[in-house]
Amino acid sequence: NRRYVLAERPVGEPTDQTLRLEVTEIPRPGPGQMLLRNEYLSLDPYMRGRMSDAPSYAPPVGIGEVMVGGTVSQVVESNLDGFAPGDWVVAFGGWQDYALSDGRGVVNLGRSPKNPSWYLGVLGMPGLTAWAGLTQIGQPRAGETLVVAAASGPVGATVGQIGKILGLRVVGIAGGPEKCAHVVDTLGFDACIDHRAPDLAEALKRAVPDGIDIYFENVGGRVFDAVLPLLNTRARVPVCGLIAQYNATGLPEGPDRLPLLMGHILRKRMTFRGFIVFDDFGHLYPEFARQMTEWVEQGRIRYREEVIEGLEQAPRAFIGLLRGESFGKRVVRLTA
Ligand code: NDP
Repeated sequence: NRRYVLAERPVGEPTDQTLRLEVTEIPRPGPGQMLLRNEYLSLDPYMRGRMSDAPSYAPPVGIGEVMVGGTVSQVVESNLDGFAPGDWVVAFGGWQDYALSDGRGVVNLGRSPKNPSWYLGVLGMPGLTAWAGLTQIGQPRAGETLVVAAASGPVGATVGQIGKILGLRVVGIAGGPEKCAHVVDTLGFDACIDHRAPDLAEALKRAVPDGIDIYFENVGGRVFDAVLPLLNTRARVPVCGLIAQYNATGLPEGPDRLPLLMGHILRKRMTFRGFIVFDDFGHLYPEFARQMTEWVEQGRIRYREEVIEGLEQAPRAFIGLLRGESFGKRVVRLTA
């Protein structure tokens, strides 16, 4: 059993020393447990938070403990009702070949699910994040303008496509012309702005002639600086993620813009609401799964995935994810 444990807490960007590969015996399941072989490991931005012991909504991974992560796995041996060898499941198997599970939080996908890895993306945690954040906090009404950044990633791409289905004008923000072309041509957004462009604020302003009613916040940083003055009265801002600052070691240089932010919130009577997907919206998973499966099967929601081959590639692929090198949902295939 190969597994990655947290070797040290990174300061700034994770490095090759952050995680350590170990080889151990394959564990045996006890009563009330099952043994899973992880087929796909999801790479997600939240993992950076778990490497840190700064206060958060979830406890950090301990030094020497297996790095956490969502997996699509197959049951090898089971002492649990409802799970039999050969079943595919979505679980939190972590960065390792084999994991023990007591079945809590595990979804059984049956014997032969179509595209099993998609349950780590559009049909799983990132999809639920997009759907619930937009519908529950964004409160969209047809004809409104929605802006979402990290627009080619699993959350952003789904947010924007749901926005189109619901009749919104949708503007994405993404890194580089290739991602922007995909966002418009394949995902069907109305426009996409490259956040690396020097005139980001001006370009965004031109793309939202009626202002912004919903800003689905995935990144923070200079993207948010460009968005803030364009938000309309009674705008809603689901605060989903702030990836631009996950590797930060302190506050940014420059003038204090907090009074500016508070002034906008007051005058425009805006709603900013943070959420943690499973804590706040886990109970909506069945409704989401029904709706999203239908949209995906109808081809109304498109999905792009990057499959990285081999567990040994996972640490580098994760560092790259935080740098914006991924294009679509990044998963690691553990078995050949
Ligand atoms: P993505 O794959 O979209 O995240 C990586 C992308 O973020 C990169 O490809 C890059 O896209 C963008 N990015 C990285 N750094 C910056 C930067 N400095 N400025 C602008 N963009 C940047 O991830 P997900 O779709 O999985 O997640 C999106 C967000 O949602 C994350 O912030 C994540 O933490 C959050 N999240 C929150 C959840 C919750 O419960 N609240 C649950 C799941 C996700 P590009 O090259 O286009 O800039």
